[in-house]
Amino acid sequence: MRRTALRAGTPPPFIAMAAALLAALGALAWPAAAEEQQKEISALTARIEALPDRSRLLFDLTGLPPVTAHPVANPPRIIVDLPEVLFRMEANAGLSPGDKLIKSYRYGIFAPGRSRVVIDLAAPAKILKADSEAAAGGPRLVIELAPTSAGHFAATVAEQARLQPAEPPKLPATAAQAPTDKPMVVIDPGHGGLDMGATGKHGEMEKDVVLEFARALRDKIQETGRARVLLTRDHDMFLPLAERVRIARENNATLFVSIHADTLAASRVEGATVYTVSERASDAEAARMAEKENLADQAAGLESKADAEEVGDILFELTRRETRAYSRQFSHSLISFWREVGALNKNPSRSAGFVVLKAFDVPSVLLELGYLSSEKDLSRLTSQDWRERAAQKTAEAVDAFISARSREARAPAEAPSSATRPQ
Ligand code: ZN
Repeated sequence: MRRTALRAGTPPPFIAMAAALLAALGALAWPAAAEEQQKEISALTARIEALPDRSRLLFDLTGLPPVTAHPVANPPRIIVDLPEVLFRMEANAGLSPGDKLIKSYRYGIFAPGRSRVVIDLAAPAKILKADSEAAAGGPRLVIELAPTSAGHFAATVAEQARLQPAEPPKLPATAAQAPTDKPMVVIDPGHGGLDMGATGKHGEMEKDVVLEFARALRDKIQETGRARVLLTRDHDMFLPLAERVRIARENNATLFVSIHADTLAASRVEGATVYTVSERASDAEAARMAEKENLADQAAGLESKADAEEVGDILFELTRRETRAYSRQFSHSLISFWREVGALNKNPSRSAGFVVLKAFDVPSVLLELGYLSSEKDLSRLTSQDWRERAAQKTAEAVDAFISARSREARAPAEAPSSATRPQ
């Protein structure tokens, strides 16, 4: 709504009323006028200039934002932080620029009011310049990097960490849901913002495909009237993995479903897979998937942290065991519902150490909708008709799961596990 705010002075009452009405209608009208008023800065194009002694990454802008930049290690990257800048280019423009220092770069919204450019380095580099400037052709963002030694790079990273400990993005607290007797289902569209996830060869992006599916699934579950639904993100923004888990736990979710899509070099591999969490991966493919998905925070320039596994007492262990049994139960049920939509992977039930599935007290699964690298999957994933049917079947599996759980709650002796769930 903030983009429609009328700022200049106190508006006459009829304008205030019109503004309120527009806000209430979701402000679908006037996007151009609203943007002009907000003077939001956009990035229009990006290009690399390779000079003999340095590499220069340039973005043409519509304004001059303040810029800060710092290096991070493991793997070596340069992080460029900006206020909210709208990137109006193809999101995969920076995938393989073919530069000797800049291996690839990403850009997008990092947190509300903050945008970020992440540069993956092909070799250790130092920042010569990171600023916005008024050039002859208009305002632009200039990032200049020069080669340096691995030792100098490491020393700069250490100095940066000492001066400014890495902080995760500040996110608005999710509105605490008023407790009702309806169970809560948290749906988690993977990736978002500058982390676009897997990409298809025609520029399809996992972050968009999974958001559309998540919205369709929310609608189908809400139609049953038997559960409340919360999306971890309902627009194109970055969200750290730990934040997704926190949202599920803080809202006392009965079920957490993370939605993803993959891509593979082998374009014949197709179909959906349902993953649960386990210490040891069920197979090499599941291990690869978990490793890839667990890198999501790194894609947005967050430090990769050691897995802070909670050290468990006996109650914790019992709860975790029970939660995992429920996760597997839902996974099997979801797969049998999906058989009616077709499109299952040859081996649709797998497990591995997914960080996003680690809430010890919320049954959690990761639904991999299919492969953006498969033409067949891609035509399904981008078809509204298929999405509606697949979301419908997923909602039916969710409904069956929460109905069974509430029956158990009324008759605890029938619970599948003898472990008591601590409240
Ligand atoms: Zn993913």
